[in-house]
Amino acid sequence: MVHEELLARHRAVLPSWLALYYEQPIEIVRGEGRRVTDGEGRTYLDLFAGILTNAIGYDIAEIREAVRAQLDSGVVHTSTLYLIRQQVELAEKIARLSGIPDAKVFFTNSGTEANETALMLATQHRRSNQVLALRNSYHGRGFGTIAITGNRGWSASSLSPVNVSYVHGGNRNRGPFKDFSDAEYIRACVADLREVLATATSGDVACLIAEPIQGVGGFTTPPDGLLGAFKEVLDEFGILLISDEVQTGWGRTGEHFWGIQAHGVVPDMMTFAKGLGNGLAIGGLVARGDLMDCLTANSISTFGGNPVSTAAANATLDYLLDHDLQANAFKVGNQLMDGLRRIAEEEPVIGDVRGKGLMIGVELVEPGTDEPSSRAAARMMEHTRERGLLIGKGGQGGNVLRLAPPMTLTEAEAEEALGILADSIAATSAELA
Ligand code: PLP
Repeated sequence: MVHEELLARHRAVLPSWLALYYEQPIEIVRGEGRRVTDGEGRTYLDLFAGILTNAIGYDIAEIREAVRAQLDSGVVHTSTLYLIRQQVELAEKIARLSGIPDAKVFFTNSGTEANETALMLATQHRRSNQVLALRNSYHGRGFGTIAITGNRGWSASSLSPVNVSYVHGGNRNRGPFKDFSDAEYIRACVADLREVLATATSGDVACLIAEPIQGVGGFTTPPDGLLGAFKEVLDEFGILLISDEVQTGWGRTGEHFWGIQAHGVVPDMMTFAKGLGNGLAIGGLVARGDLMDCLTANSISTFGGNPVSTAAANATLDYLLDHDLQANAFKVGNQLMDGLRRIAEEEPVIGDVRGKGLMIGVELVEPGTDEPSSRAAARMMEHTRERGLLIGKGGQGGNVLRLAPPMTLTEAEAEEALGILADSIAATSAELA
């Protein structure tokens, strides 16, 4: 089969650590709306949107036209040493949407580069390489970002250009504060932050970086207000707050445009990527002007903010706003969440349903226990695939299903997905029994 041959060729020339979903990985060759088709002609409803990359779905006319117009101009010359109208327009929109005073934007090609740049600016600005990160975090696979990743499954190296200390506030379900109320949890995390600052740092820390909802960590969702409470402490020490919005940006969480807004605070910097180009590579950083301008040396990203990616991003952002997809994420997200909670009442293999908007985590456990069940998650991936549904997986124990569809998902499609998820959970439970 063509597919088998492609997989063998992949294994021969691509790294063994390059993660692939499914025992028999899928080659996606076409997409339309919220559905994708594989090389063997099978169609799937995509509840993972690539990896949250296809924010508004597949084969969107507005995106195709914007990218085509840019390609048709003959200027696929991407050096950012020249003025690029699309880049300026996109920066204006993001600066305005950020809520950060006097904001400036720097474009990269990925979330990793965005976070590397944020770390570079924060450490330069504060003249300190001490960084705080949340336990169970993931911020990318660059030398600095992997060093601050608090997740053993993804941490590649202990050699670090950054001096990192971890604080609580990541996966509440699996920590010592498991049974705390929201208010108690926030108090305990703030006390831990103070304790870490006093005992594990010299106090002149550059920044704290946090995902408002942890992505790779399993869509762990802290109580609203936690990062705002952190910011009060950080301000006492002049420590910068960086919100990693790579997964939580663009209205996906339903209630807000940026995940951090649930915490009632404006961060010093936000990083973004994933959905902005609706599949094309673009990321970046938005920060207060004085922070952005603190570098004295020249710097450039050759491809960051290139005309083709920024054309796609402008069209994506306009589409998101014009169609109020944040409101759709809220409505359809709640529908999915309610449906999943109903399924969970019948199925002890589901330990937790959490998240916001169209960013929903379903934690699987060995039935009757609190033990993470990676085998249940692995079976769920296969069962949903067989039934024509793509979902994501994550979490420290590889036991959390992640649902993050294109934000255009309809109520009928959400219902269809819930039917497949219910059948797949029943099949998985039967196998585990
Ligand atoms: N930050 C977060 C929260 C992410 O989830 C990811 C990727 O999954 C990254 C950063 C890294 O982004 P990229 O894979 O585009 O380098």
